[in-house]
Amino acid sequence: MNEMLEVGGLVFAIRRSARRRTLGLTVDRGGELVIHCPPSVAEDELTHWTRSKLLWVQGKLALKAELTPTVREPEYVSGENFSYLGRHYRLMLISQQSEALCFDGQRFLLRKDAVAAAATHFRRWYIEQGQARIAGRVEWLSPRTGLSPSDVRLRDLGFRWGSCGRHGVLFFNWKLLQLPLRLIDYVVAHELAHLREPHHGPAFWNILGRALPDWNERKQELRMQARHIYWCHPGMSQ
Ligand SMILES: [Zn+2]
Repeated sequence: MNEMLEVGGLVFAIRRSARRRTLGLTVDRGGELVIHCPPSVAEDELTHWTRSKLLWVQGKLALKAELTPTVREPEYVSGENFSYLGRHYRLMLISQQSEALCFDGQRFLLRKDAVAAAATHFRRWYIEQGQARIAGRVEWLSPRTGLSPSDVRLRDLGFRWGSCGRHGVLFFNWKLLQLPLRLIDYVVAHELAHLREPHHGPAFWNILGRALPDWNERKQELRMQARHIYWCHPGMSQ
């Protein structure tokens, strides 16, 4: 189970290991922040220690941001394409409508005076639409993995597509909703498998293989497609 810790607005994955005697912190290639520690270190202590490392982490992240390609951000202009479940829909700016952002099944309609906060409106829209969608995929994949979460939540997960939290809660990145369902299913099955297997060992891939025999194909496709959607870092991982 991926234990997470939020310090200074950053999310850290916690890896506990009996082989570790000291605390350590790494920033991996995808920008994921990982705290390595012995099994019994309390969360308070981890928070305190991590806070003392924040300056170092921020320096590392800034350096990484300089070296890696930037995230694609939309311009929020009429005619621009936005993806939802792998399909493209045009954006249209309009002068009057009650909601800041609407979707009519054909187009996204954004009120002109809401353009400055458009990113927030899109995020909210994807989360509202996505909650039931993702929950539906979890329901479909649970019997196939033999595992089910205690809860499913959508949020911003930085460089990660999904995460298996404590007490059987699964977290998914709302940005996933831009991708086709078959790729969302890969992420869902992946996190479900983490409910039993915290690490990417043979037992983990066995669970995934039973649920989605072509998981590897989907995994590669996810990596490819992630480069073409908005708000996603090229190094997005799980
Ligand atoms: Zn994983």
